Amino acid sequence: MMGGHHAATGAAAWVAVTSTAPFAFGWYEGVSHTGVVAGALVCAGAALLPDADHHSGTIANSLSPVSDAVVKVVEKLSGGHRKGTHSILGVLAFTAIAWFLSLLSVDTGIDGVGTVLIGPGIMCVLLVAFALKALKITRDTKVLPWTTSVTLAALIAVFAPEEWFWMPFCVALGCVVHILGDLITTNGVPIFWPLKFKSPRWMRDGRGIELDSFWRRGGNIALPILGNAGSVREWILLVPISLYAVVGIVWALLNQMGYDTMPLWEQVTAWV
Ligand SMILES: [Zn+2]
Repeated sequence: MMGGHHAATGAAAWVAVTSTAPFAFGWYEGVSHTGVVAGALVCAGAALLPDADHHSGTIANSLSPVSDAVVKVVEKLSGGHRKGTHSILGVLAFTAIAWFLSLLSVDTGIDGVGTVLIGPGIMCVLLVAFALKALKITRDTKVLPWTTSVTLAALIAVFAPEEWFWMPFCVALGCVVHILGDLITTNGVPIFWPLKFKSPRWMRDGRGIELDSFWRRGGNIALPILGNAGSVREWILLVPISLYAVVGIVWALLNQMGYDTMPLWEQVTAWV
């Protein structure tokens, strides 16, 4: 799946799981309207993390020079593109890092400010910059990604510091959604990496049942309903998904501003 599409599915998944809107599930409770909006951006960025294993990918130059360095390390550790970061182990590793970083805080000693959670703040800056780059909101790669994502992280840190409790979950959700997105393309993903289960020979020589597209030669698992990455089917699927994310974010923003969105919803559903 393409970078921007991964980001959109991450944002949509966050809305579906945390929003209390009638069109969402609200399984993960306690996230405020601000959290739905901020989390959608953070989750969009987290949904790009598994592709931080590729030095020429979207992430590498989204927040230079920090992102380039992060990508170099991830690429080394994960064994290359679509390897370790696209597995259960990869999701666990990213979530563990997010959980560890979420504990990092500094006591500023300033009245009214007190302890600032810098770990989640750093994650927010990085992940939001990834998302902005993938969604082509920031084309300029030098100044704008930094200023935009640092401003957002600072706003949350100051106005809604209680929001950060969801950071590890948000990262886990983003990574899982990314892997699912790649799973439904032709190449599939190595879910059990570093274990590699090669498909038996009879499956590939044309005599057996045609299972080669599901269990790839290299051991990847695929459910290739979208075909190749970036296919027309992928673009078509992404229209309702992106629309859903945008509606969810606007819904949360309106509620945050005190606007009662339910009458509007009733009108729309009655009309449909
Ligand atoms: Zn990927």
